[in-house]
Amino acid sequence: MDMRPVIVVHGGAWAIPDHLAESSTNGVKNAVTRGFSILANGGNSLQAVEATVRILEDNIAFDAGHGAVLNADGDVELDAIIMDGTNLAVGAVSCIKSIANPVMFARTIMEQTPHVMLTGSGANKFAEKMNIKKVPAEELVTENAVKEWEQYQKYKQSVTSLFNTERMHDTVGAVAIDHKGNIACATSTGGITNKMVGRVGDSPIIGSGAYADNFIGAVSTTGHGESIMKVMLARKVLFNMEKGETPQSAADQALEYMKNKVQGRGGLIVVSKSGEWAARFTTKRMAWASIANNILNYGLNPGENFQEKFDLNM
Ligand code: ASP
Repeated sequence: MDMRPVIVVHGGAWAIPDHLAESSTNGVKNAVTRGFSILANGGNSLQAVEATVRILEDNIAFDAGHGAVLNADGDVELDAIIMDGTNLAVGAVSCIKSIANPVMFARTIMEQTPHVMLTGSGANKFAEKMNIKKVPAEELVTENAVKEWEQYQKYKQSVTSLFNTERMHDTVGAVAIDHKGNIACATSTGGITNKMVGRVGDSPIIGSGAYADNFIGAVSTTGHGESIMKVMLARKVLFNMEKGETPQSAADQALEYMKNKVQGRGGLIVVSKSGEWAARFTTKRMAWASIANNILNYGLNPGENFQEKFDLNM
């Protein structure tokens, strides 16, 4: 099969404040460009989503890896997942500390263990054994994350009361289809500010934070994790596509269902097995970008879709 490669990325939903708007948009544009160049040079979709999410994890504008939000104790605890649509292989980590690129570690778990997810101290122990690079815990903490955490502490707001309002920066994810029609996805996050210690959100949960199947497509989600898990948002979008919906209407219907059923908001990116894609959200903003058919699309506000011609050799 010779498919035209497609890649879509998101840098999280919610109310990205104006002072982070430009860095979020530039961050997703930069990541999608580098991810696409892997596909254009013959790399596969799994390599592309891993590399793309790593770039986003290294960018402090986003809530993943460097720049992750802080839990109730003021610590970083990270979740991530990666999935290969060719054979439904999947690897995930939850509640890990001091690892700058959880998505790489998730891939190691997928490839080097008989399990799907490792968590907490066991995961950290396995990371040591596999020589996954560790960083001092404080290296992942940014000024913005501390500010956001202090704000929560000051106003003693519960985790849920701020969920649907002013969250600053967010989860990252990527979905891609390569020349051979192989599909993959990855999602990585620090979760939500002031979350209980040990809280695991939707992001590393198969079918909630991500899902990929060559016979249908792939999805990566962001938003209110407790809601996303209840409706298994990623797989729900793909179920809708299996019933014949386009990626866009499948996404809109799934997000609407989540809003009505559990009053949860979020966003997602999706690519189908034929290379159709969509980036949809019910939050105030979501940073996203895609490259398909030599066009770079991107947006941040509802209804926005900026387009630039994209030529790798330019
Ligand atoms: N879904 C993530 C979580 O709940 C956070 C987000 O995407 O905003 O952990």
